[in-house]
Amino acid sequence: ISSSPIKITAREHVQALLDQYDNFLFDCDGVVWLGETLIPGMVEAIEYLESKGKKVVFVTNNSSKSRDEYVEKFHRLGFKSFRKQQVYPTCYAAVSNLDQLGVQPGAKVWVLGDAGIMHELKEGGYQALGGTDTRLNQAFDPDHPLLEVDPEVQAVIVGSTKDFNYMRIALTLQYLLHNNKSIPFIGANIDRTYPGPHGLILPAGGSVVSYMEYTANRTFLNVGKPSTQFLDTIVAENGFDRSRTLMVGDTLYTDIKFGNDGKLGAGAGSLLVLTGGTKPEDLAHLLHLPEDYEDPHSMTPLYVMDSFGAFVDILKG
Ligand code: PLP
Ligand code: CA
Repeated sequence: ISSSPIKITAREHVQALLDQYDNFLFDCDGVVWLGETLIPGMVEAIEYLESKGKKVVFVTNNSSKSRDEYVEKFHRLGFKSFRKQQVYPTCYAAVSNLDQLGVQPGAKVWVLGDAGIMHELKEGGYQALGGTDTRLNQAFDPDHPLLEVDPEVQAVIVGSTKDFNYMRIALTLQYLLHNNKSIPFIGANIDRTYPGPHGLILPAGGSVVSYMEYTANRTFLNVGKPSTQFLDTIVAENGFDRSRTLMVGDTLYTDIKFGNDGKLGAGAGSLLVLTGGTKPEDLAHLLHLPEDYEDPHSMTPLYVMDSFGAFVDILKG
């Protein structure tokens, strides 16, 4: 990868992207929207790409909504022709992984996370335990009957949750330790933070997963970006030619690494936008890196663009 990303600012740059790529993978938060607010120009950009026969899919590390809930959100924000097969949230990735881990539909799965994981488990034919169960919304009580471990639970999925309380943490720990730590431990993402409303920087799923990782003294399987297995699944399911596929994202250690490690484009197909959590100075220093991601090249984007929402405006001049 060249050390300095190519800035996409002029018509010929945008045209070059259209010539080089047939398939576009978009991160959601920070690229398509910020929370509930659409990033201006994104509906037009996606509609333009699709009108030129480009294939577009969305890959989000946010596990709190199921694919059905994302369909509703995309439609609400103006993406009229959006289909369920176009979105890959990590709650779906987590459930898809169960089979490969030997956990078949019908099995009980313990969740520390929001509704998206519960919904995808049910859709996959699994029994979802924990998660949004409101009986866990209470102060910790060691005598509570819910603190008894269900020996039939076969996997644990952890993702972001706004109901992170001691009852849930303590119970999740029992499952992670159960049977000599033999139950698979899936983490929905490694995101430390995400940009919230009013300029707040909020804790994301990776913080919840690493809390459980530490207390259980176990390592989790990350099913979200930058997992190359996640990318392999998306590429295979859609029949994409990797060399003609580009990943567009706002986070260096998840999105950009995903495109680069996944050998998209000519060996590294990633485009960073500055509408989310990464600022130009971060790019300069390649900050925000978890300690175990040491290779700065894997996080250096091939291209950088202020906003992908400017795509059509730049093209039309
Ligand atoms: N985790 C949580 C809890 C989030 O709310 C978000 C974004 O809203 C993310 C992760 C990152 O999502 P994405 O991969 O779409 O940027
Ligand atoms: Ca993002």
